[in-house]
Amino acid sequence: MMKSMTKNIMMKNSMMKKKNKPLRKCIGCNEMKEKSELIRVAKISDEKFVLDETGAQNGRGAYICKSKSCLQKAIKNKGLERSFKCKISTDIYNGLEQELNKYEA
Ligand SMILES: [Zn+2]
Repeated sequence: MMKSMTKNIMMKNSMMKKKNKPLRKCIGCNEMKEKSELIRVAKISDEKFVLDETGAQNGRGAYICKSKSCLQKAIKNKGLERSFKCKISTDIYNGLEQELNKYEA
């Protein structure tokens, strides 16, 4: 009895380890990447978007590489606007660009 229970737990653990890391799509380059390589953009309101490092911010979210070139791509291909289904002003893009400076290596 005890033996089979232990076996079950071990099987469960090994299955969990095999599970792939969650992938998210960058709204700039459209590549699927691990969440840790991306940063979440959260919509606080129509006028306010922030980079959400912890992923804990409420509101709609989209993911982007920690790279300004991907932000530029997202501006061009309107990836952010499509993700959030709303117009995004230049001010918001500028603000996000400023914040991305902090994360870009
Ligand atoms: Zn990207």
